[in-house]
Amino acid sequence: MTAEQIKIAIPGAAGRMGQMIIREIAASNDLVLVGATDRPGSEAIGADSGMLAGTGANGVIISDDPASLFADADVVIDFTSPAASVAHAGMAAAGNVALVIGTTGMTDSDEESLAAAGNTIPLVYCANTSVGVTLLGRLVEQVAAQLVDGWDIEIVETHHHHKVDAPSGTALALGEAAARGRGVKLAEVSDMVREGQTGARRPGDIGFAVMRGGDVTGEHSVIFFGESERVEITHKATDRAIFARGALRAARFAAAAKAGFYNMEDVLKA
Ligand code: NAD
Repeated sequence: MTAEQIKIAIPGAAGRMGQMIIREIAASNDLVLVGATDRPGSEAIGADSGMLAGTGANGVIISDDPASLFADADVVIDFTSPAASVAHAGMAAAGNVALVIGTTGMTDSDEESLAAAGNTIPLVYCANTSVGVTLLGRLVEQVAAQLVDGWDIEIVETHHHHKVDAPSGTALALGEAAARGRGVKLAEVSDMVREGQTGARRPGDIGFAVMRGGDVTGEHSVIFFGESERVEITHKATDRAIFARGALRAARFAAAAKAGFYNMEDVLKA
């Protein structure tokens, strides 16, 4: 460890994203792993986090004590579950440690808790940490603002069969971007479930469709259906390393930022 290195701790160190982030930290020069946890009862408790992630032993043993995350770290990077991330946000604020949260499936009240922690610490919260998807959101907002009357917006997403929430946090964020472009509230125009006698499509609605299967890392399309023409904007992730690299970029940003509630747009602009 050098004095200039940013010290990172990882909850969910046994998870798919946790292990990927630990591999990316090991490959970096400016970041060092100083803490790792997983949920109480996980088989990974007591294991060396580097061994589990496949980088070789790093001496950081996976604990089930969340307080250990906040003892030495400059930044905690959290891809776990909504309940765990909300609890970690409170602890980060109390311990004055910056936090990056990539967990999806948050309720409005969960998000309010994260925003409140952002009054005390730098907190970056983003349902999709890929640079490409962040740009996709910008494009969707612009196109939705232009293609209004007579244009129907549908968002289609596909993920691997382990994913537990739907539509994906990214699909919802893209829906928010489209709604912003149209100057409406997503909650008032979203159409999430269609089955049986649905009636005709309401003009102005933003529809969602979800597929789950295999090992698909993540695919999102925002489709603008017009009369005799169609505009499709698509992002396909083929390796979750893109999310891990984006999370590390967010961690570097958070380590130097003032207290605030930030998203990936803020990280890319910095
Ligand atoms: P996963 O199930 O493989 O990993 C989650 C890990 O968190 C598990 O090891 C679990 O035991 C652990 N965990 C649960 N509660 C905990 C607690 N209280 N303390 C410590 N660890 C705890 O899931 P995953 O595929 O790695 O995804 C995790 C989250 O990240 C999901 O919400 C997913 O949708 C989201 N995600 C976000 C992005 C993004 O770009 N922001 C990308 C991929 C996944």
